[in-house]
Amino acid sequence: MSGGNHIGQGDVLLIVDVQNDFCPGGALPIAGGDAILPRVNALIDEATRAGALVVASRDWHPADHVSFAARGGPWPRHCLQDESGAAFHRDLKLPASTMIVTKGDRLDSDQYSAFDRTGLADELRRRKARRVWVCGLALDVCVKATALDSVAAGFPTLLVTSATAPVTAEDGADALDELARAGVQFVA
Ligand SMILES: [Zn+2]
Repeated sequence: MSGGNHIGQGDVLLIVDVQNDFCPGGALPIAGGDAILPRVNALIDEATRAGALVVASRDWHPADHVSFAARGGPWPRHCLQDESGAAFHRDLKLPASTMIVTKGDRLDSDQYSAFDRTGLADELRRRKARRVWVCGLALDVCVKATALDSVAAGFPTLLVTSATAPVTAEDGADALDELARAGVQFVA
């Protein structure tokens, strides 16, 4: 079971922003954001069995972050540091060994990508990562930016389409087009 469509040794499972505020009931809810959880957890099981690294990114904003509408940004207040909205969803079964990547904590610029000034690419190279499997929220924003940066950093990159959801269906479709053109492979 080490074929191309399964997470194998040396692969990385990168789970983007599966946090309360991006799920129904949160400050910036994505329709069906929590519906991906069983699939994400199955991927975690697969990664764990294969001995693959699990990475989870989190959006982690200061109170007056530049991305918030109060400062002219596109989003409502969300994922405030240390508040419940920024916590990982309670049904997300992260192993204790998960590498947490924090982003969005710079006051004056946003970071959609888990690779954006976080040191993640260097860390994955250091660990000789083979491929990067991307899933999480939201497809048309942080998942897209993360997968594009993963490809740009030179990692063969796979998007698990059943383990992500977009803010809007139209932007989600556009994101898939853009990711396909960039060379991201899709796994159901
Ligand atoms: Zn944010």
